[in-house]
Amino acid sequence: MKIAILSRQPSLYSTQRLKEAGEERGNEMHVIDYLRCYMNITAHNPKVIYQGKALEGYDAIIPRIGASKTFYGTAVVRQFEVMGVFSANESQAISRSRDKLRCLQILSQKGIGLPVTGFAHSAKDIDGLIESVGGAPLVIKLLEGTQGIGVVLAETHQAAKSVIEAFRGLDANILVQEFIKEAGGMDIRCFVVGDRVIASMKRQGAPGEFRSNIHRGGSAAKIKLTPEERSTALRAAKAMGLRVAGVDLLRSNHGPVVMEVNSSPGLEGVEAATEVDVAGKIIDYLEKNASPGKTRDRIKY
Ligand code: ADP
Repeated sequence: MKIAILSRQPSLYSTQRLKEAGEERGNEMHVIDYLRCYMNITAHNPKVIYQGKALEGYDAIIPRIGASKTFYGTAVVRQFEVMGVFSANESQAISRSRDKLRCLQILSQKGIGLPVTGFAHSAKDIDGLIESVGGAPLVIKLLEGTQGIGVVLAETHQAAKSVIEAFRGLDANILVQEFIKEAGGMDIRCFVVGDRVIASMKRQGAPGEFRSNIHRGGSAAKIKLTPEERSTALRAAKAMGLRVAGVDLLRSNHGPVVMEVNSSPGLEGVEAATEVDVAGKIIDYLEKNASPGKTRDRIKY
């Protein structure tokens, strides 16, 4: 197969591993910087042009679109879809997953376990908002945050109110969430490919830290999922329309709850912690499933 990895950084671990795994299996692998792609949108012969040449003959693409480049990146993915090229994740699904509120709303519609979550636009509604998630302690999250930055634990009603007021004063979009204390600073990353969880790891926050992000000093190790966790992860990925997904769960007293579904989950941490050849599993999946024009979304674009 001829496969394009849409990535801005050829030297990134995930990009390298996907390229390697593809080549090991005899595929032709190209890393393409999607921000350098340009397109012509025509009725008959839509094209993606890269370094002056039209990209042709691809069987599949693996999008690795950075969060800050979602708008242009998904337009490039969509152009490949218009051309009938199979994408490991479709443009629509990537866009959906990038909006945390939309993501939670879709999951709730499917009856998937979630931390009780609230959001509001006006700073006048703060008391009601805090009450709606069961009061303090609670977690406040910046919608645009990643790697745990902008995720704050407020222990008291007053602290929650001050933080929400501060964020709203900066015109930042936030959500507030029930604090899952019993998770004990641990979350679980389930790596979904197709209809299987192919690897799972737990991430434990540094002592005294409720956030388990590795970037915040957390550590990762392999973990065996319960059947309920496994099915929750699969249902969450499916609800989002993602074929390749990193589903983050917390173990709560009321079962597994989904925090986030990521459409470009990193490979480095999970391969190191679990020793699973995640890149190889993604390539295997493409080899089995990539057929032209096969899309899952009913409204494709
Ligand atoms: P980011 O996307 O920036 O990593 P997350 O929403 O994943 O932000 O939160 C970062 C970490 O904080 C999570 O990995 C988890 O360990 C912890 N956390 C997030 N939400 C909650 C919550 N509602 N209850 C308990 N811990 C949480």
